[in-house]
Amino acid sequence: MSYIKEVLKEIEGRNGEQAEFKQAATEVLESLEGVINEHPEYRTNAILERIVEPDRQIMFRVPWIDDKGVAHVNRGFRVQFNNAIGPYKGGLRLHPSVNLSIIKFLGFEQIFKNSLTGLPIGGGKGGSDFDPKGKSDREIFEFCRSFMTELYRHLGADIDVPAGDIGTGAREIGYMYGTYKKITNSYEGVLTGKSLQYGGSLARTEATGYGLVYLTEEMLKAKGQSFNGKKVVISGSGNVAIYAAEKAMNLGAKVVTMSDSTGWILDEAGIDLAAIKEIKEVKRGRLSEYKSYRPKSEYHTSGRVWQVPCDIALPCATQNELNGDDAATLVKNKVTAVGEGANMPSTPDAMELFVSKGVLFAPAKAANAGGVATSALEMSQNSQRLSWTFEKVDSKLHDIMKNIYHNMAAAAEQYGHKDNFIIGANIAGFKKVADAMVAQGIQ
Ligand code: GLU
Repeated sequence: MSYIKEVLKEIEGRNGEQAEFKQAATEVLESLEGVINEHPEYRTNAILERIVEPDRQIMFRVPWIDDKGVAHVNRGFRVQFNNAIGPYKGGLRLHPSVNLSIIKFLGFEQIFKNSLTGLPIGGGKGGSDFDPKGKSDREIFEFCRSFMTELYRHLGADIDVPAGDIGTGAREIGYMYGTYKKITNSYEGVLTGKSLQYGGSLARTEATGYGLVYLTEEMLKAKGQSFNGKKVVISGSGNVAIYAAEKAMNLGAKVVTMSDSTGWILDEAGIDLAAIKEIKEVKRGRLSEYKSYRPKSEYHTSGRVWQVPCDIALPCATQNELNGDDAATLVKNKVTAVGEGANMPSTPDAMELFVSKGVLFAPAKAANAGGVATSALEMSQNSQRLSWTFEKVDSKLHDIMKNIYHNMAAAAEQYGHKDNFIIGANIAGFKKVADAMVAQGIQ
């Protein structure tokens, strides 16, 4: 049995019930054949066995009291996956679906994504099954304070630096930062995605969405294409979706859809982003309100954005939101490029179809790396006790995304899979971490 198959079997035996984690691990390991054959030291150093096993996984009780005085208990997680190339780094997801499998898949992806940025950050992820939807500010504060009252002991600016993810934005990061500071009496860059007044970085809010479009544009450019004049379908309406739409529009594209957990909008004239920002960022409302801003738009609670014919699709909502049938519809409607803004939004059969049909496909760990890359730039600014201009951060982000594209394209070609950026991103991300692990000995 090959080394990769052996380790996949071991993963199945040990993590049988963790579907999302197994999906992410299988995709990465199956990409690595060329590089594993070339580097026998990876086997002798048990690199694969070690890279699929987190350094540690922390699970804890998060009790909090709601506005009616009723006590609740959620479960908190932090998976510190790998710190071979830098402190653990990755977001905190607050969503009722959160469980160990989801946090492990996200933490595993983060190892390779963070490596691809070229910056010194390891992989980690955390969160809770707490549902922030419909909660008051005071309830959010209660939860965040309780969550950080346990988590703080595992963090540090050179140890583990969490950030936002689904359900965690500037408000939650602020409450958690305040709690960390209160308990430790230490003012350090222990979280990223902070507000600007207390150490946040300009362009961090925009970074994941902008980065997604920068990388996708670079991928299109290599084939003599661009966003200009293209019709773009986007899912999601959170931070990633909003700023992906903004940058795509800046580059001359027309964005016609967005979605949230209850429905999706189609605006053939092009989405009114100011309206979306007001609904989502100011009112924390639902997309069903969009029709009152744009009476000619459509609001749907059934079907999917992927049925709308488009040139470019940008899934920016959540994992496994685009399946094989959706991919077949997109291909039938002649989609030319797909860039993943969310983490693992395409199912394995969807990815396979895109690649086999010659659709340009930018996988999440490359395409959405702009967020965490800019978090690393926030860490640098905090260490220097300086704040860089928007232009400086944005131009570094742009360069990072271009580099990621060229590194993954080069790795794909070097190992005989030209234009398969799934394999290219996995190899390029893996190699740096694997070499660092070899250098540091079997730990
Ligand atoms: N949650 C984001 C991601 O999936 C950002 C993580 C960070 O900034 O640390 O990469």
